[in-house]
Amino acid sequence: MEIYFYNTLTKQKDRFEPIDSNEVRIYSCGPTVYKDASIGNMRTNILNDILRRVLKYNGYKIKHAMNITDVGHLVSDGDEGEDKMLKSAREEQKSPIEIAEHYTQLFFNDLKDLNIEIPEIVCKATEHIKEMLEYVEKLIEEGYAYETSTAIYFDISKLDKYPILSNLDLENQKAGARVDVDTEKRNPADFALWIKAKPNHLMKWDSQWGPSYPGWHIECSTMGQKYLGEQFDIHTGGIDLVPTHHENEIAQSKGRCGKIPAKFWIHGEYLLINGGKMSKSLKNVFLVRDIKERGYDPLVYKLFSYSCHYRNKLNFTWEGIDAASKSLDRLRNSYQSNLNGNDILSRDDIEKLNQIEENFHKAINDDLNMPLAMSYVWEAARFEKKNSEVAKLLAKFDTVLGIEVDKLSSSSEKEEIPQEILDLVEQRKIARDNKDWAKSDELRDLISEMGYCVKDTKQGMEISKV
Ligand code: AMP
Ligand code: ZN
Repeated sequence: MEIYFYNTLTKQKDRFEPIDSNEVRIYSCGPTVYKDASIGNMRTNILNDILRRVLKYNGYKIKHAMNITDVGHLVSDGDEGEDKMLKSAREEQKSPIEIAEHYTQLFFNDLKDLNIEIPEIVCKATEHIKEMLEYVEKLIEEGYAYETSTAIYFDISKLDKYPILSNLDLENQKAGARVDVDTEKRNPADFALWIKAKPNHLMKWDSQWGPSYPGWHIECSTMGQKYLGEQFDIHTGGIDLVPTHHENEIAQSKGRCGKIPAKFWIHGEYLLINGGKMSKSLKNVFLVRDIKERGYDPLVYKLFSYSCHYRNKLNFTWEGIDAASKSLDRLRNSYQSNLNGNDILSRDDIEKLNQIEENFHKAINDDLNMPLAMSYVWEAARFEKKNSEVAKLLAKFDTVLGIEVDKLSSSSEKEEIPQEILDLVEQRKIARDNKDWAKSDELRDLISEMGYCVKDTKQGMEISKV
């Protein structure tokens, strides 16, 4: 089945075909490990996860690289301000290495809690200093970079086109160019590839320019090329990375080898909190840990995120999480009741299930349309007959959803069944005792219409919510 992704580069949905027929190479900008990852950061990681899982669902092998930024990401995302790692080290009175190790560990804990697959390659910026230096030297050789008294800059005027990914307004940037930036820069939009360290700078390496350290963009270009080649299939990241980081990665790659590093550029929109931005001052920066501390299975957040297409803003509320928690329970209950279900499936039923599967497949292949895909998941979960084939289908869907649909729901034991349903179940028991099978089936259908499933087991009847 054809796959389409919205490509930020072409600004349209393009048909996806990998460069190599059976392996898809993906690069994702990973975390800057200077603080806790928020549930907003995790939304972007969930996007990476869905992308991987959808490609696998389509039979592709994946080679996915993700960097860990442990140096060079300055507070402004551009060339200004302190290195985020150093700022955090100073504030927490730890060494930058301790900060990096601590937050990297927490980041991977979050991935595990959210059942997010770990990329095949995880690479740290500080372990690729040599390769980054070689990359910068090559850019100088090719005439795309120059030295000033403070840094090595990329000269954007040497490119045929800049910007090409975003709508960066270079004219305005010129007019508003800040006076405190390096006056030796040839063009206001030139960006630092390598920065000369001031004497008290903590993270620095020896180079032909003296003690110095990498800019942020160079790490992704270097590691992307090292692990995935000069051109790979897909580059992902949060939407905020388009105008600076990804634009500059493209510039570097064009300077180095004349190629745009990825054919597809996929960007995830932001998570909002109660309709606004997450911010420390508003005390609304939530973590996966906060979701767990309120008693929810963290996968509830993953399911919650499927309520919105990745290219739209998603509004986080605790009410939304509560509703998603109930939905997750219902899905898991449905899986269990189908697993043990012994309704006979007619040919017509099997055709219906095949159609649901095809619709689901079409939805995920249409630019990862998870809200639409979820509507088919629900169609399967609410299927009128209970049969292990339905459970199998739900398990197949879960290879994409990654929400452990086969786990027992938190409500499976303690769920309170309304009296009305208990009365119907009792009436059904009487009908069965009297061998009135027609009446018994009629009552079971009525119970099912009211959202409950009744199963006959050796231990007696079991009732669960669908
Ligand atoms: P930060 O550590 O806050 O700079 O965020 C790292 C990356 O996570 C950003 O570059 C975004 O791509 C992504 N990100 C941050 N906040 C959000 C959010 N609220 N929603 C979605 N993605 C986010
Ligand atoms: Zn990056």
